[in-house]
Parts: sequence; structure tokens; C-alpha cells
Amino acid sequence: MREKAIICVDDDRVILSILGEQLKRCFGNQYNIELIDNSLEVLDVWTELVAEGIEIPVIISDQNMAKMSGDKLLIELHKLYPQTLKILLTGATEAVAIRNLVNAGALYRYIPKPWDETDLLLTVSEALRSYKQEQQLAQQNQLLIATNQQLQESLSLLVATLEATADGILVVDNCGKVVRFNQKFADIWEISNLLSNKLAKTQVINLILQQLSQPYCCHLDHKAAQLNSNNYSILELKNGKIIECYSQIQKLQDQNLGRVWSFRDVTERQQAEKLIKHQAFHDTLTGLANRNLFNHHLTETLHKANKSQTKFAVIFFDLDRFKTINDSLGHAIGDLLLRSVVERLLNCLREGDLLSRWGGDEFTLLLPQINSPQDATRIAQRILDTLHPAFELNDHCLRVTSSIGIAIYPDHGKDAETLLKNADAALYRAKEEGRNNYQQYNSALNSQAQKLLKLETRLHYALETQEFVLYYQPIIDVITNRIVKVEALVRWQHPEFGLVSPNIFIPLAEENGAIIPIGKWILETACAQNRLWQKMGLTPLKVSVNLSPKQFQQRNLVSTVGQILARNKLLPSCLELEITETTAMQNTDLAKNIIMQFHDMGITLAMDDFGTGYCSLSYLKQFPLDTIKIDQSFIKNLIGNPEDIAIVSAILSLGQAFNINVVAEGVESKELRNFLTTTLQCRYMQGHYFSRPLSGKDLTKLLKHNILRNQVQILD
Ligand code: C2E
Ligand code: MG
Ligand code: MG
Repeated sequence: MREKAIICVDDDRVILSILGEQLKRCFGNQYNIELIDNSLEVLDVWTELVAEGIEIPVIISDQNMAKMSGDKLLIELHKLYPQTLKILLTGATEAVAIRNLVNAGALYRYIPKPWDETDLLLTVSEALRSYKQEQQLAQQNQLLIATNQQLQESLSLLVATLEATADGILVVDNCGKVVRFNQKFADIWEISNLLSNKLAKTQVINLILQQLSQPYCCHLDHKAAQLNSNNYSILELKNGKIIECYSQIQKLQDQNLGRVWSFRDVTERQQAEKLIKHQAFHDTLTGLANRNLFNHHLTETLHKANKSQTKFAVIFFDLDRFKTINDSLGHAIGDLLLRSVVERLLNCLREGDLLSRWGGDEFTLLLPQINSPQDATRIAQRILDTLHPAFELNDHCLRVTSSIGIAIYPDHGKDAETLLKNADAALYRAKEEGRNNYQQYNSALNSQAQKLLKLETRLHYALETQEFVLYYQPIIDVITNRIVKVEALVRWQHPEFGLVSPNIFIPLAEENGAIIPIGKWILETACAQNRLWQKMGLTPLKVSVNLSPKQFQQRNLVSTVGQILARNKLLPSCLELEITETTAMQNTDLAKNIIMQFHDMGITLAMDDFGTGYCSLSYLKQFPLDTIKIDQSFIKNLIGNPEDIAIVSAILSLGQAFNINVVAEGVESKELRNFLTTTLQCRYMQGHYFSRPLSGKDLTKLLKHNILRNQVQILD
């Protein structure tokens, strides 16, 4: 507690001490009673007391003092210490002094001399109480001012916060009247231009509130709403904005005060989320669904089909020889091709069909509604047809075919994994069938995948165990009806799987390198066989041997071929080598160099599968080619197909212009033979119509008897 003092001033020491005695008796416990007999010293004493922290509630001064009169003293003091209550002791004739004090507002009471002790003590006691009250009041006042200031600060902080927040805020009272909103709110709802028009503003906000209370305008996210006791919803505005909206009832001690709405523009965030979601479920190159999305839909479709007892199809397909295109023309062209392929594919699908890129050049297709397996095969045929016309990309004109495998639910599998596995097995069957076709799964293909794995591991030993055989297919000159050439075609006589098609194992051998020794064996065997036919006295003919891309890039290929010819005592003119366009394009300079060397040796060169890689006819001039073999995909459906006819006829004229023989591959019927002969003047043909590939022994018989299945005479 602070100490307090009462000051008494009188230059009459006797009176001063009486005054002091009386005051001490009554107030001495709580107050120091300071007695000063020199009015000029009052201020000094006062200042000292104040410096010691002593409070002075009351001063009592005599009026009549020699050095400074009481009224003067009190008026001076009042200027400095207005809170202290001033009491004047006066004689009878001192009205002027009292008036002075009153005018200065400095007088609390005056006490006439001689005074009555009780009067004095009552007056002082009252003064002390009054002082105390004043002090308390002043304190309260100060507190009030401070509180008010705090309140003001909080309020402006609140407003600043309201404006600084990223959310649009709208506060509505219990009766639905708008209390406040921030600028962001006006921005989100695009009402900033209305703000000066109070009526319009209120109307619009009321309209907004009205709409907010109607559930159909917002897509309530029930899950979020449950998690959150606040009302939460996502609004999709007409202008495309996506707004997240919370509303919360404001309560004070259980009393409902109103509602605070907060709105957040989440358009960008939602778009980013959408993008991320899209990327997680889509292929970036083509924009198609990816595996994840496909699997998701497949599972859903399975559930539905299971319930409704309906069928659906899973189709697995890839692009034949896509790797070659990628390797020889680069990934940029490969990517471009994939995109163009997808564009075409999408055009031939029905709504509800789901096409996905499985990876690389592999695609899956989900046909959720089919009535019969024929619906699926029809779509598969449509895919083959739609891919058929050449793709014009930059300077390249690319031909793409596809091998397609089909699995039907529930016939070919009752779960996603089995259906996909079986569609894949059917795809391999399609490859085996010579590509560019579709196959439906059947149980015989069950172990296809395992089969492939087994094939690949055994491939390395198959040479040692002598499991490869060469078959030979005649190439006919339809003018002379002679077999002018035979193409050597390798088969793998597998102990478990029987005859395995080169379409299956050559790519495997290419990949794992086994093609090098196998290729060498093929060359050796074909040359030996040809030499044998010559030794038998048959008319010398050319044997044509396929070279795979990897084989062609072997550095010592030319010398190897030379050694083989020498070893078998075969003339180079009795050997033809077949390479594909893409093989030739992979390293043009190297290819040119090798081809020149073969040419100089007297070995002829054939361009195989012509048309499937490029239509880059200008390249042909660079190579000393003897033969072009038109790929069977152009020949198969030639009749009635103007585009194919145009291509085949162009290749034939080109051959004529460059003096290159042209062979049509895959001639399967008499009509085709006749059409090619009479309409297109094609001279050389190969195909089942004349003869399937035969074993060396069977072909020997054929050559000896001069008889082909279709009575083509072999003139000798
Ligand atoms: P390719 O060189 O274009 O061989 C022609 C393919 O067409 C052969 O298939 C042949 O049996 C088939 N074929 C011939 N006439 C017809 C016909 O009228 N209709 C149908 N649908 N097909 C016919 P194959 O023997 O299954 O060989 C497929 C491919 O495997 C060959 O295509 C070739 O690229 C490759 N290949 C075959 N043997 C060898 C080989 O010894 N070495 C290399 N590197 N590749 C080979
Ligand atoms: Mg060939
Ligand atoms: Mg061919």
C-alpha cells in the first residue's frame, strides 16, 4: 500500500501543533501528518513526499501567513496537484480569499477560526472519503478508456482479418439480414459493381442466400458433411467457378445469433486435382485410359455382368512390327504414329466401349455390352479395317497392321485376370497366324504364356538338339509356269508343342541373340539343300533366305555368307537374300555398303514385306535390288479394294521402271492369281494357291514330278 499524508500549513507554531495533535489522534494510524510552518517551503516538502511515492489527499492551510497567504499557496498548488483537496483555515474577514479560491476551483471547504475539533475532523474525514472516491472513479475511467481502446483495436483487427482472408465471408443475422461481408465475397459472386447500389446489393445477396438453401444448386458432399458438423458443400457456378462453401450457426450461450457463410474459390485447386486424377488414370501420350482405369472399369463391368447375366468382351491387341518402326524412324515418329492410330481407333468404337493404352504399342479394349461373341469379332475386324489405309506422317507413309486377341465373359474367364490373360493368349495366336488378324480365345491356348516362356528358354539349345527344320515355298513365274525360286522358311519342331511358327520364335530369337547362330544354320542348310537339288540334276534355281535385322547388322555377315557358299560349292547366283525395308532403313549407309558387297559377289537381294514399312520408293534407287516382295496384307483382300489395287499397281510399275522383279506374296486363290495376272500384269507370285511351304523332301518330289497342286507345269 502506498503511504498517504495530510499536510498542515500555518506560520503560527502553536496553532499548527494543536491542529497536528487533533489530526494525529484521529487519522494518525493511516496518514502521516506533515506540519509546515513556512508557507514558502510547502512546495519543496510536497515534491519530496511525492518523490518518495507518498500520496497527498488533503492539505489544510491557514490563510493569514506572513510569507505567502493561504489562498495564493493553495491556488498555486492546485495548478500542480488538482486532485488534492484543499481546506482553508480562515478568520472572520477573509471573504476575498475564499472567493479567489472558489474562482480558481481550488477550494474544498473553509473552516473558520477558531474551529471546533469535531467539525474539523468531520470535514477532513469527508474530504478523505471524497478523495478516495475520486481516485476510484479515475481508475475506473482509465480502465474504461483502456478497454475501449482494446475493443477498437480488436474490431479493426477483425475487419482487417475479414478482408485479408482468402475466403469470401458473409455474416447474416438471425432474421436473415446481411450483417457484413468482405470484398472477397463480392469478388467471388461478382457483385463488386453493385456495392454502391444498396438495394440491388441486398437483392442479389438475398438471391444468393435463397439459392444456397436449395440443395439442387449445390452438389452436397455428404461424406464431408458428415465429417464436419458445419454445413459443407461444393457449388458449381454457371460461370464455371467451383466454390467450396461452409456455413456455421453463430451461437452465444445457446442463443442463435445468425449464420456465417464462408466461400472459397477452389476452381484452380479442383482443376489441378482433376489433372492429377486424370494423369493417374490416363496415358499422357494418347490421352487414353491407362491400365489402372481399365482395370477399374473391368472390375465394375464384371460386377454388372455377373448380376445381369450378360456377356462382355475384353480385347487385347498390339501393332505388328511397331518396334521396327520405332527403332528405325525414331521415337518421335513412333509417338506420332501411336497418336494417329488412337485417333482412328476412337472413331470406330461405340459409346461405352473403353479403349486403353496398356503400354508401348499394346492396347486393351473393353466392350461392356455385347449380345454375342460375333459383336466382338465385328469390332476386331473394324479395327483391322480402320488401320488399313496408310498413315501419312511427316515424310513417311506408314502401314500398320494389328494382331488382336478376344476373350468373352463368362465363356473365357470369370475374373479380370483370367480374361486379360486369355485375351493375351489369343493375341499370340493371332501373331502365330501371321499377324494382321484377330483370334478368339479357346482353351487350347490356355498355356500359351507358359509356352512362350518355355520356348524362349529352350531356344538356345534347339540348334544343338536339331529341332529346326527348313521348309521351302515355291515362287512361280506365271508366264512360264516355272518355279523360279524357293523361299526358305524356318520352323521349329518342338518336342512338346510341335511345329512352332517363325512369327513366334524369330522375334524371341532376335531379342535374346539366338538369331545369330540360328540364322547361320538356316543359310548353311538352305545352301546345302540347293546344292543337293543341283546334284540330283534338277534345274538350278535360286533359294531365297530371310535375314533378320540383327543378323543383317552382323559385322562379318558378308564373309560368313561367302564361306557358306564356298563350303557348299554353290554359285552366288543361286542365293537370294531377303531383307525388310525397315532393316534396310535402320542404318542406311551400312545397309547400302553390305548390299553393294553382296551385289558385287553376285548374290541378289529381295526387299521383303514391301509396303509395310515405308512407301519410301526413292530409297529404292540407292539399292541394287533384284526383287520386291509385296506384302501379303496388300494382296489378301486386293479384289474390290481400290486403294490396295492402286498401291500394288504402283509397286508393279515401279518395278518395271527400275527393272526390279516384283513378287506378290500370299496368293491364295485362283481369282487372285487371275486378277494379278490379267489386270495388273504381275508376273511372279507366291502363295498357298500354288503351294504351301514344304519340307525339303516334299519339295524335292514336287520338283522331280514337275507338278504343282494347281497343275502349274514346271517346264524343264
Ligand atoms: P515372310 O518372309 O514374308 O514369309 C512369307 C510368309 O508367308 C511365310 O510364313 C509363308 O508361309 C506365308 N505364306 C506364303 N504364302 C501364303 C499364303 O498364300 N497365305 C498365307 N496366309 N500365308 C502365306 P512363315 O513361314 O510363317 O514365316 C513368317 C515370317 O517369319 C516370314 O515372313 C519371315 O519374316 C519370318 N521367317 C520365316 N523364316 C525365316 C528365316 O529363316 N529367317 C528369318 N530371319 N525369318 C524368317
Ligand atoms: Mg520372306
Ligand atoms: Mg514377306
